[in-house]
Amino acid sequence: MKVSRKIVLHFPARLVEEAIAYRLVKEYNLQFNILKASIIPDSEGFIVLELTGEQEDYDRGVRFLTKIGVNIEALSQNVVRNEDKCTHCGACLTVCPTGAFEIEPGTRRVLFMHDRCIACSMCLKACPPRAMELHF
Ligand code: SF4
Ligand code: SF4
Repeated sequence: MKVSRKIVLHFPARLVEEAIAYRLVKEYNLQFNILKASIIPDSEGFIVLELTGEQEDYDRGVRFLTKIGVNIEALSQNVVRNEDKCTHCGACLTVCPTGAFEIEPGTRRVLFMHDRCIACSMCLKACPPRAMELHF
C-alpha cells in the first residue's frame, strides 16, 4: 500500500552535512517533495517534506532516520484560525514555512490559506492573541 505523509525532520548538528534525503530515495525507494528546508552549517537544521512510498519502505525509512538521530514530527493535526481573535497584525507571516498567510492588497488584512498549511504549529506561539488553534 502506498502512503504519503507530511513530516518535519529536525537534525542535530552532526547530521547537517549528510545527504539524508538522497539516502531515503536511493536506499528506501521513497519519493520526497521538500516543502521547506532550513539548514545552517555547524548548527541544527530542519526539513519539512512530503514523503511518499510503499508502507514497508516508509516504515524502514523512518526507522533509519530515527536510528541516525533525526527527530521526526508527524503533521496529522489540523490548524485553524479563530477569526474572532485575529487582529491581522501579520506576525504569522514571518514564521510560516509554507507561505500560508498573505496580506490582501487594498485591505491589508492577513489571509489564511488553509490548503497550504502543513500544521507545523509554528504560528501558534507567534500569534499574539492566540488566534491560531491546533485541533486533533
Ligand atoms: S499572528 Fe495571529 S493575529 Fe496576527 S495576523 Fe496572524 S493569525 Fe492574525
Ligand atoms: S501551522 Fe501555521 S506556521 Fe505552520 S504551516 Fe500552518 S499556518 Fe503555517
